[in-house]
Amino acid sequence: MGRQLQRYLDGVIDAETAALIEAHLEDCRRCGLEAETYRQIKAALAARRLPPPPDAVQRLREFGLRLSRGDRSP
Ligand SMILES: [Zn+2]
Repeated sequence: MGRQLQRYLDGVIDAETAALIEAHLEDCRRCGLEAETYRQIKAALAARRLPPPPDAVQRLREFGLRLSRGDRSP
């Protein structure tokens, strides 16, 4: 899920896969939280005003580590 989730959040995924991911985010709290964290970071960076919340940064780091290890669960 991880890599596709990241593509989805970056908006670089086909519509059919995006719909599947949206359905998964509705059902899967863990992926939903990851998606929300990623959105918060991107929004903070886009705003270029305040640094992202430290806890969100930490969670994104852990998310990135899991992605780099190839953990696609669940
Ligand atoms: Zn999930």
